[in-house]
Amino acid sequence: MNTVYLSLGSNLGDRASNLDRAVAELRGAGVEVQRVSSLYETEPVGRRAQPWFLNLVAEAETELFPVQLLGRLQTIEIRLGRRRDVVQGPRTIDIDILFYGNFRIRSERLVVPHPRLEQRRFVLEPLAELAPELRHPVSRLTIRELLASTADRSAVRRAPPANLT
Ligand code: AMP
Repeated sequence: MNTVYLSLGSNLGDRASNLDRAVAELRGAGVEVQRVSSLYETEPVGRRAQPWFLNLVAEAETELFPVQLLGRLQTIEIRLGRRRDVVQGPRTIDIDILFYGNFRIRSERLVVPHPRLEQRRFVLEPLAELAPELRHPVSRLTIRELLASTADRSAVRRAPPANLT
């Protein structure tokens, strides 16, 4: 079994329910989700003129090989209605592989650890909630250290639990 960390985000439709459905679909696709972070309201980075995202990070165990895992994630994205017409545009669901154990992968389809995670507060905050002492296999810095030193100043706020809103 390999421990993987996944970043999930949604900024179209019922965002909390899209995330919920995606986590449920992961469980049926050979990805045993162990823990999920709180939900975070996050400001769009890059193309800014779009709705705010709801993000979370999931910790999971899987026997799937990395590219197989990517394929399952993309199937879930399509099933939940993801369309790829605007680069960096609004999406019902986006799922990225942050870490796959301590492996480093560099292929045309897949780069792991995710190359932009250090620059994304919307990834680092929920990841730090789950695994602050986890070490990046390349830089050897912990997630807590990466969060303290990221240059990303975009807004990331922990959202109230869905059942209290
Ligand atoms: P996006 O449209 O932002 O979801 O980007 C998806 C594209 O990034 C896909 O074509 C993947 O093959 C590629 N990709 C590269 N590395 C990763 C990764 N670590 N997690 C998810 N997708 C990745």
